[in-house]
Amino acid sequence: MQIHLMLSDDWELRGNGSGNMRALQFATIRRLMEIYERYGLRGTFNVEVMQQLCHLDFGRRFAELRALAGEWEATVREVVSRGHDVQLHLHPQWLEARYEDGRWRLGNRWAIVDFPATTVRQMVWRAKSYLEALVRPLAPDYRCVSFRSGAWSIAPSPHVLPILAEAGIELDTSLAGGLHFDLPNVKLDYRNLDEPLLPFYPRMDDARRVAQEPTPIVCLATHSCRKSLWTSMLRQLGRRCPRWFGARFRAPCMTPVVDGGVAANYEEDHWKEKSSKTGKEAPIRVRVSDLSALNYLDARRALADGRRRLQRTAHVCLPMIFENHTKDIGDFAPIERFAQFVAGSSVFKVRTAAEVAKALRDGVYFVRHDGPRDPQMIHDARRLDLWTFRQQAPTVNVNLRPGTRSGSREPRLPVPAARPGQDS
Ligand SMILES: [Zn+2]
Repeated sequence: MQIHLMLSDDWELRGNGSGNMRALQFATIRRLMEIYERYGLRGTFNVEVMQQLCHLDFGRRFAELRALAGEWEATVREVVSRGHDVQLHLHPQWLEARYEDGRWRLGNRWAIVDFPATTVRQMVWRAKSYLEALVRPLAPDYRCVSFRSGAWSIAPSPHVLPILAEAGIELDTSLAGGLHFDLPNVKLDYRNLDEPLLPFYPRMDDARRVAQEPTPIVCLATHSCRKSLWTSMLRQLGRRCPRWFGARFRAPCMTPVVDGGVAANYEEDHWKEKSSKTGKEAPIRVRVSDLSALNYLDARRALADGRRRLQRTAHVCLPMIFENHTKDIGDFAPIERFAQFVAGSSVFKVRTAAEVAKALRDGVYFVRHDGPRDPQMIHDARRLDLWTFRQQAPTVNVNLRPGTRSGSREPRLPVPAARPGQDS
């Protein structure tokens, strides 16, 4: 089988607006592109546009923000001209941004699902229109077709997926199986996704659930897998004895970005989940396949996990998404080894989000929905353990005949036409 691996990357400042953009974003993305290009790979950069719109808005008053916004645009143009893909990433906390004493203070609502439909619509249309206007002088056919939500927040919501579809987004990559946040700024629960592996048509009010029929947007969860006790111990070894085990067991994020300008307690303050009873950190049993947070062994293990699970489905070609955060990459060596491995693989072929979206349109991949299908195929599907995190056998209706692409010719519902006047 062949796996189309999307190397996505959320390109942004920290969630609280902190960080030195030139170090965390401009320098790191260039180094990452150099690595990808050395091995003939192309990345998909989910550029956080709300941050950029704030820099443009506040840049009318503050020259330093205006300069950064200009460099941001130049960098995005460079990314596109070098053959990589840029797609949309949004952090709604920038909506309530203030710039005081030379630093950003952002809102406390980090989840797009917590905002009303009118606000989400304005945000999505403005960001998407801005990005397309920026890129089209270089690539006239460019369309922004893929979306990843800030802080992985996409479901449940009665209006977020319909608004994305209305704006022409064809692929959402905001889910990640097993993810669970109960934090002051973000609450989400993806511990029991209907479909954490294959592309699927989501229920438009809850992306965690598979629809009964084709819907105007396809969801594909970013790959995640269970943490392994063995590799977790090796990570600790790499963390504690970097001199001896650093090269093999340290993840890129364990080395701070030089001049990154990020407070040491950022992760502790914003992303550590605490148990309310003990005050201790609550265990998270899955790890999203984020290259900035995986050492080389973990990254290879994540690839092997995805390959094993996808091969069980017996489809000939399926997509899979890996994540990355350029702002966290202080050490590029593990990513370089990973890129070298992927480039030499006959199973994994790197594709951009635009290419995956096109393949979805062309019916290259199976896309799951739970409407009626051949009963024998439903029986076959139930015998498979498609989802390792689920407690019960999944009731999926998947055509498993080798070499067939059931669902690939299913009619797509028309995407509602763009509303004039909304795209400003
Ligand atoms: Zn983000």
